[in-house]
Amino acid sequence: MIMRRKFLKLICISLLGLILVPHRYLYSQTKKIINQNLTKEQKDILFNEGTERPFTSSLLYEKRVGFYHCANCGNKLFSSTAKFDSGTGWPSFSEALPGAFKTKVDYSFGMERIEYHCAKCGAHHGHVFNDGPSKTGKRFCNNGLCLIFIPSE
Ligand SMILES: [Zn+2]
Repeated sequence: MIMRRKFLKLICISLLGLILVPHRYLYSQTKKIINQNLTKEQKDILFNEGTERPFTSSLLYEKRVGFYHCANCGNKLFSSTAKFDSGTGWPSFSEALPGAFKTKVDYSFGMERIEYHCAKCGAHHGHVFNDGPSKTGKRFCNNGLCLIFIPSE
């Protein structure tokens, strides 16, 4: 009887392990949510590498002088001087502030693209392309929902 209980207990622990291990693996991959007020749409882009629908961001029409910050952690990412109208429907920038982002190669959708994410919190922001019109040659294609614009006084 005691043996049988021990055996059952062992099975229970094994099953629990099977359930918990993949979760632990997933959680260890998850980037850290710092801003607790993020919407579902923002979280989907920042943490699941989603993309907002083009021409939906109010930041497309933002022309004031200031800086664009990470919506999750507040890290300063772009200056308004680097912003340009790419016609793609997403806020676009010719360069990021030094050290603002880290990049990785993204092979999703059968394409090879350079994905970039916030160097401070790891949240996904967009993709960078080598077809920019300015002297940097870069086009940072950023989801507007990932950015917070703070105008300079
Ligand atoms: Zn961040």
